Amino acid sequence: MIERLVHWSRVKSPWVLHLNTGACNACDIEILAALMPRFDLERFGILLKGTPRHADVLICTGPITRQNRDRVVRIYEQVPDPKFVVAVGACAMSGCVYRGAYNSMGGIDQVLPVNAYIPGCPIRPDALIDGVVKLLNSLK
Ligand code: SF4
Repeated sequence: MIERLVHWSRVKSPWVLHLNTGACNACDIEILAALMPRFDLERFGILLKGTPRHADVLICTGPITRQNRDRVVRIYEQVPDPKFVVAVGACAMSGCVYRGAYNSMGGIDQVLPVNAYIPGCPIRPDALIDGVVKLLNSLK
């Protein structure tokens, strides 16, 4: 009973942590736009949190860099189970313009299991909302 209640509340109101793993910041600005009143991501119960310990979903922008790989894994490990990762933007999906650079390891899925990919360079706020809602529907 308690487990069903926890699962229900997670699907109805997931808390997210926004993590820039090496992005150029354009995707990050679009994520912020999605949280503002015009697109209003919060209408789906999605709340931005400041710590991985309170998050259900990691929203990652940018490629994995050699410098931050260990930090990203450490942050992921601090998110309580069950946890989900959303790769936002072409960089998080594949490395995009940073692919092949000496300091880039490619997309987020090189070090973390990714549950949803949201394409774009940068993404559009409505694409982010669409991707997150599809992820939530797949959890029901
Ligand atoms: S996908 Fe494009 S806009 Fe987003 S972080 Fe990469 S280069 Fe910047």
